[in-house]
Amino acid sequence: MKLTVIKLKCIDYGFDCSFESEGEVEHVIKEFSEHTEDVHGIDYSKEALMQIILNKTMQKT
Ligand SMILES: [Zn+2]
Repeated sequence: MKLTVIKLKCIDYGFDCSFESEGEVEHVIKEFSEHTEDVHGIDYSKEALMQIILNKTMQKT
């Protein structure tokens, strides 16, 4: 499965935080989940993040 570069921002998910992760999907999932766990104490599963990314990708026009 080949996907384009994506971007996740904490602020999009209700965090008062300027963190952004951009890059290939695998990289963003890893970086974002590590960040939310370390900084916000929320452990997003890979599946949950993948769903967020898929929703975001489909909304893009
Ligand atoms: Zn954050």
